[in-house]
Amino acid sequence: MCPGCYRPNVEGYCPNCRKQLFDGARVSSVLPFDQPKADNLSMYQEKTRRLSISGVQLKYSLRLEDGALRLTEKGGQYIIKPVPPTTQITHQDQAPENEHLTMQIASRVFGIQTAANALIYFKDGAPAYITRRFDVKPDGSKYLQEDMAQISGASRQTRGENFKYEGTYEDIGHLIKKHVAAAQPALERFFQLVLFNYIFSNGDAHLKNFSLIQTTMGDYTLTPAYDLMSTVLHTPHESDMALECYEKDMETSFYSKWGYFGQHTFRTLAEKIGIQPVRSSRIITRMLEQRNRVTGLISSSFLSDDVKQAYQHNYFAKLQRMGMTEDMIASAIDPVHPGVYAVTTTPTRLTFIDGSVKDGYFDTTSRSHDLAAENKYSFIELSNATDYRNTRDQALVTIVDGDLLIGIEHPMVG
Ligand SMILES: [Zn+2]
Repeated sequence: MCPGCYRPNVEGYCPNCRKQLFDGARVSSVLPFDQPKADNLSMYQEKTRRLSISGVQLKYSLRLEDGALRLTEKGGQYIIKPVPPTTQITHQDQAPENEHLTMQIASRVFGIQTAANALIYFKDGAPAYITRRFDVKPDGSKYLQEDMAQISGASRQTRGENFKYEGTYEDIGHLIKKHVAAAQPALERFFQLVLFNYIFSNGDAHLKNFSLIQTTMGDYTLTPAYDLMSTVLHTPHESDMALECYEKDMETSFYSKWGYFGQHTFRTLAEKIGIQPVRSSRIITRMLEQRNRVTGLISSSFLSDDVKQAYQHNYFAKLQRMGMTEDMIASAIDPVHPGVYAVTTTPTRLTFIDGSVKDGYFDTTSRSHDLAAENKYSFIELSNATDYRNTRDQALVTIVDGDLLIGIEHPMVG
């Protein structure tokens, strides 16, 4: 299997991965040297207040010379991250493949632009994650690049030890608007990435994990995504997000009721950074669909079976928290004409995240337009259907919250 893209029946890297990573050169998926020997663990462990994967992961620079990858101090073209030499985190031996899988899901399932990446092995068989630096030009010089900590002026000196985690995703959105010439597409890419991080439980997407890079035209754009991994597998007690979405994001009625972020949080973030509701809803829908392709990649990955299961479990749990969008509801009602929300004339069964079930009919009323803006829908429960048909009494209409919906059975079977 190709250690870059899981393509079966290939020795080493497949032609496509060779192209992405090495401009087509035949490079072995086994490095000509052993993994670093950790005889001094404390040397590796940055003293961060917060235990995060970024605090324990080591990085090394590599150069491609005469068809072989070599460790280098200067002029690195690749970065490798071996298994972190620490027992402070769980499943640390799976960290390289976790990052590789998560990056593959981002690019191949969701079309997120990512740094080229693969799994690679040391001579002694230990795995490492390898990624190609996107800031290195073909002539070896570098594109100007700055991360969001640098751009916002956050450093140890200005904001203390925890500076990478001081800020909000909304702040980053405003920095993108200020510095990126084609801001709108960059904002949408950024929003999609924040959502991806939430759904795939990357709780370490801090200020330094978003960067701007100068293009050949001289203006700035968002870099491809990097450092994506399901960190919850290694640091299970971390918070869901490295940064707040926006100030006071936990003070919403949704959060106080459920204790976690949901679709409402992300719609609000999108609105705050200037993404139109119709666009954010489309991005959210795209991120909540494709379940089969995601689970397919998880199962073909090199993770151990128990970690595969945990990865998928966490993913499904996050999907449930996000509820359903109008487009998802429409497709569930009528897969033949997806995207058209319509009244239903045969009974529909709705299942909600708290386990409750409602049977009835989707309806439209004079309030439907306003309700849809909040992802809410008029629904006539079966027990009220006859009375409602006769009286059109609005008190008989149940308002259904799409943010809390986890399943629609239509037509209802049970
Ligand atoms: Zn491949």
